[in-house]
Parts: sequence; structure tokens; C-alpha cells
Amino acid sequence: MGIVFKNVVKQYPNTASPAVDNVSLDIREGEFIVFLGPSGCGKTTLLKMVNKLYDTTSGTIEIDGTDINQVQTEQLRRGIGYVIQQNGLFPHMTIEANIAVVPRLLKWDEAKIDKRIDELLEMVHLDPKVFRKRRPSQLSGGQQQRVGIARAMAAGPKILLMDEPFGAIDAITRTSLQDELHRIQRLLKKTILFVTHDVDEALRLADRIIVMQAGKVVQFATPYEILTNP
Ligand code: ADP
Ligand code: ADP
Repeated sequence: MGIVFKNVVKQYPNTASPAVDNVSLDIREGEFIVFLGPSGCGKTTLLKMVNKLYDTTSGTIEIDGTDINQVQTEQLRRGIGYVIQQNGLFPHMTIEANIAVVPRLLKWDEAKIDKRIDELLEMVHLDPKVFRKRRPSQLSGGQQQRVGIARAMAAGPKILLMDEPFGAIDAITRTSLQDELHRIQRLLKKTILFVTHDVDEALRLADRIIVMQAGKVVQFATPYEILTNP
């Protein structure tokens, strides 16, 4: 169970060296994994292969023992929430409509969706009475990112992919969002793959940190191990 990368390579056309270079990893169900490394080391590419936004050049990725290439893309993505730095909320839609996108695609009944929206907003500490009917532009960056997390979790995915989700947020808000995400992850036992170039953020959040350099994994260890054996 969990997510297993086996000799995963990604080589973009017309490039000298692979962006992801023979990565093998064994990630346990419910782990909070942080990919850490400088810009350009392949973190985003690795993440985007998990929900098949990109194909692998070679190697395999298995989720709960099944090769993701054996799973239909739509089906795969239903089980995977995705949060990026630009929260990607639809600007013309209210917060409640943004959160409801995936449940509506899945044809949940509206009463269930309505209840779910309140639950999710409360989970990320936004008062539903205040926020449901607003549009993204009427929220701060930090509040928008909370909605982004709520939306990614709407249909109850087992896995969350998060690509520098707090990168554009001021330091104080970032700390509170990190704490909240940590609490939510412990509570809901999601497997989280989180990308950052911020060492403090990695140490704060991760069960285990995957340090990357030029497409390769150079360290895979707990924050404690990394602090005591840098
Ligand atoms: P990171 O997320 O660690 O910043 P990326 O995965 O975005 O790294 O990029 C890894 C490498 O792959 C970089 O050298 C980048 O320039 C290259 N790269 C990323 N996306 C593409 C693309 N679509 N086409 C060609 N090269 C790309
Ligand atoms: P970018 O080009 O910035 O990397 P993407 O093309 O990855 O953006 O994603 C575009 C939008 O689609 C984003 O708002 C993202 O949240 C959403 N999205 C992409 N893949 C998924 C997924 N697997 N599940 C849910 N939302 C997704």
C-alpha cells in the first residue's frame, strides 16, 4: 500500500539530461512527504507524473499496488487532490461553487454537497456563513489558499499533491496554514506529497523529507535524521 516509484525517469524532448533521473521511492500510506530541493531539481515534474499531468519516460508509479498506467486518468484523479501555488480557483464562481466542482462532476446529491461545503470550510477555519457566497477576489491570499485546500479535499481523496501551496503567502499566514495542514493531515490520515524549496517548511511539516538534486534523490530521511546528520 502507499505510493511506489520504480526507476522513474522523465526526459523532456531536446534536453541534455533527464529532469527526473531514475527515482525509486517507497511512500507509506498516510505519510506526510516533503520533496525539498532547489528550483529546477525536478520536484514539480515528479509530482505531476503521479496524477498523470505528465507521462513517465520510463519506470513505473504504483498506488496501492496498481500501476497508474492501468488506471483511467479521470478515475485516478478522483482519488488525488491537487493544490498549486496559484490556487487556481475559478474567479467567476463563488467559494461554494468552487468547492462543489468535483462533487458535482461525481453527481453527488445537492444536499450532501451543501453539507460537505460547510464541513470543508470549517475544517480550514473559514466561517461558511461569511465565505460561501463570496468570490475569490474578495478573499486574502491566505484565505484563497485555504479554499484551495478545501476544494482539493472535497471528494475525500486519499492522496494530496501540493506544489509550493504556501509559496506566495506572507510568513505569518504561512505558519498558521502549515499548522492547519499538519492538523488536518493527522486527523484525516491523508498521504501528502508536498513540494517546497524552503528547508524550514520541510522540517516543520514532513514525516520524511526527500532531498532532490538535479533530478536525483540524494537523501530520504526524517527531519530528525536530517538535523542530526546533515
Ligand atoms: P522544480 O519543480 O524542482 O523547480 P521542475 O520539475 O519544474 O523542477 O523542472 C525540472 C527540470 O525540467 C528543469 O530543468 C526544467 O527547466 C525542466 N522542465 C520542466 N518542465 C519542462 C517542460 N515542459 N519542457 C522542458 N523542460 C522542462
Ligand atoms: P499549471 O499549468 O499551473 O501547473 P495545471 O494544468 O497543473 O496548472 O492545473 C490547472 C488547474 O487544474 C489547477 O487549478 C489545478 O488545481 C487543477 N487540477 C489539475 N489536475 C488536477 C487534479 N488531478 N485534481 C484536481 N484538480 C486538478
